[in-house]
Amino acid sequence: MRFSGWRVLREGLTGNKGWKPHWRDPEPKSEYDVVIIGGGGHGLATAYYLAKEHGITNVAVLEKGYLGGGNVGRNTTIVRANYYLPGNSEFYSHSLKLWEGMEQDLNYNAMMSQRGIINLFHNDGQRDAAVRRGNAIINQGDDAELLSREQVRKLAPFLNFENNRFPIMGGLMQRRAGTARHDAVAWGYARGAGMRGVDLIQNCEVTGIDVEGGKVVGVQTVRGPIRAKKVALAAAGRSGQVAAMAGLTLPIESHVLQAFVSEGLKPIVDHVITFAEGHLYISQSDKGGLVFGSYLDFYSSYAARGNLPMVEHTMETFVAMVPAVSKARLLRSWGGIMDMTPDGSPIIDHSPIDGLYLNCGWCYGGFKATPGSGSVYAHLIATDRPHGAATKFKLDRFRSGVGLMDEEGTGAQHNLH
Ligand SMILES: Cc1cc2nc3c(=O)[nH]c(=O)nc-3n(C[C@H](O)[C@H](O)[C@H](O)COP(=O)(O)OP(=O)(O)OC[C@H]3O[C@@H](n4cnc5c(N)ncnc54)[C@H](O)[C@@H]3O)c2cc1C
Repeated sequence: MRFSGWRVLREGLTGNKGWKPHWRDPEPKSEYDVVIIGGGGHGLATAYYLAKEHGITNVAVLEKGYLGGGNVGRNTTIVRANYYLPGNSEFYSHSLKLWEGMEQDLNYNAMMSQRGIINLFHNDGQRDAAVRRGNAIINQGDDAELLSREQVRKLAPFLNFENNRFPIMGGLMQRRAGTARHDAVAWGYARGAGMRGVDLIQNCEVTGIDVEGGKVVGVQTVRGPIRAKKVALAAAGRSGQVAAMAGLTLPIESHVLQAFVSEGLKPIVDHVITFAEGHLYISQSDKGGLVFGSYLDFYSSYAARGNLPMVEHTMETFVAMVPAVSKARLLRSWGGIMDMTPDGSPIIDHSPIDGLYLNCGWCYGGFKATPGSGSVYAHLIATDRPHGAATKFKLDRFRSGVGLMDEEGTGAQHNLH
């Protein structure tokens, strides 16, 4: 079924009786060429590109809950390609280009909105860092603009420019950055993969990974064993637990990240805005809610709900930066489990077990990676060689120390990235 304006019109005039489910609900087969563990954005995009780019369709995505119920449906939807370090910068550049054609490719409205991101800076050191980052982004072939305080004021007059503690000195803008509707991205990839023959199996938790003679041969699930030539991990915050089923210890700590949305307000925030102090980030949804978040909760946890100290910190920062929001009501808050690596950059690599592949360590930046991650992971699984845009996401860097990509410069502390 193709979506189009005509189709919407026709269905509207005929009682909306012609819409079909977006994907099949198959029983698991006893064997697949590839089993992907995790039906989030990355697992679904990987299945889609395996089928579309590599013609590999005997694939199952096994999801313990429902498709899109993990972080892909819980994030603050920011999409950008403004990284500084080689390794990250070419990968996110690749991903943003895929975002730009994704809706047409999937024939699915994911409400991609290139409204631009402004990263504010508040002191000379942060300004220098923004200039360096901007130059790196431009060298990579993406867009970046340095904005003065007055230029920021024109774009976002509601910010607190009189705050002595966090003076706004300017911002680094990327106009091609923006937001997309997160769960629609999962649905679009699910539909695209399902249409190409991939089995999307919900309520199918993987409980074990079968390894014989150093090679993966299948998985155990709550719906029975499934044999597989290749098994690909895409379990985000649960990556450490899933890898442990194969006897692997990953350099990952799982932490909760919270997000918040206010009641619906008239349009006020036209861009995505991030603050270098307090690490606040805000945007406004199409329904009018202000969507925002800040730091991780500081201790490891697998609970997908947050703790009050971080709620307090986030609200304080928000009110300091945008005093008018003190009058708005908070509608909802929620949390998701982040797979944090020691350098804050991801892993897309073979594992030490033959046929078992790793895609994890997205920290709190994996939504923008979704198309890129799917495409390069599918390439790795299909060809056993890393994709050119993802040659540096090696697992071994955490053993050897060579090739670490620490964008934040905070050192090997998972929760500070
Ligand atoms: C509050 C919040 C805000 C964020 N904001 C942003 C942002 O603005 N921009 C950005 O780029 N990123 C953001 N992120 C990060 C981003 O959401 C994640 O990095 C990304 O979604 C992770 O990849 P995924 O979509 O595949 O994960 P998920 O959707 O979590 O998919 C993993 C799936 O694996 C399943 N699973 C786990 N264990 C098993 C098992 N044993 N068997 C079967 N299935 C299993 C889970 O149920 C889950 O559905 C944010 C995250 C949160 C929580």
